[in-house]
Amino acid sequence: MKSYKPSGKAPASGLVRLGLSTVLGNVLVGGLLHLLGRLIYVILLFPLLMGATAGGLAFAATYGGKIRNPMLTIAAGLLGGLCIYGTTHGADYLQFRSESGARVDELLEERVGESGFGGYLKFSAQQGVSIGKIGRDGINLGETGTWVYWLIELAIVELVAGAIAYGAASQVFCEKCDEWYDSATPVGGVSPDKGNTFLEALKGQNFSQAAQSVGPVLSNTNSSLKISHCFCPSCGKNGEVLFSVAKDQTDKKGKNIWSRTVKEGLLTPQEYQQFQAAIPPRGNGSDQS
Ligand SMILES: [Zn+2]
Repeated sequence: MKSYKPSGKAPASGLVRLGLSTVLGNVLVGGLLHLLGRLIYVILLFPLLMGATAGGLAFAATYGGKIRNPMLTIAAGLLGGLCIYGTTHGADYLQFRSESGARVDELLEERVGESGFGGYLKFSAQQGVSIGKIGRDGINLGETGTWVYWLIELAIVELVAGAIAYGAASQVFCEKCDEWYDSATPVGGVSPDKGNTFLEALKGQNFSQAAQSVGPVLSNTNSSLKISHCFCPSCGKNGEVLFSVAKDQTDKKGKNIWSRTVKEGLLTPQEYQQFQAAIPPRGNGSDQS
């Protein structure tokens, strides 16, 4: 099973789309969030929204613009995060300017020794951000606390944006048909006792042997494996198949809490055929849909 390597290609139209949505999209949404934030600013929620916007825009432009260069997508997500976070502060600054009258730069220079946006940020930090419940006086974080608070906000924005962009960058693309693979569908499951045998067989490229361990998808079983596949919509089973194995983790009540990809790669049509043909036929109790 070979791992998928993106071609790194990015059509010019896709680049334009990625660039425009990274800058304009984030500035626009950042402006709207600034307006919303004047009415109510919810700590944590706003940075999460900003990160989701920056990451979501990078995702949409990558997908729609057929960009197969993960570094570009991730860079766009991170840059978008800076754009949207910078815009909310920039819009605060513009508002401050318009409310402070003509001597604003002089006043900033007097108070913090610097005019313009930088002076405004220093001045705001000096005033300190207040955190508290609606309708009550909040706790002022003080100057250092405010800088730290802004850094934490920016870190949240960048983490969320980067994570979503990373998800977009790991999609599989068929270069022959010039289209993205479909989303993954389940193939079957492997019970915890057969997990190691299955993974060993996969490692040894013995796909028909691996298939022997495959049964129905087991839900809510700790350490069971879930297998899924996805295809190019045009090539179907005549093209390379993306094959993924994920491990489920459940809590004490047997509820599925998370699943982690343990193995993923491309199978040739022949390898996939060998695997499919050797899956034991299923009797009763199958919950395969
Ligand atoms: Zn194809």
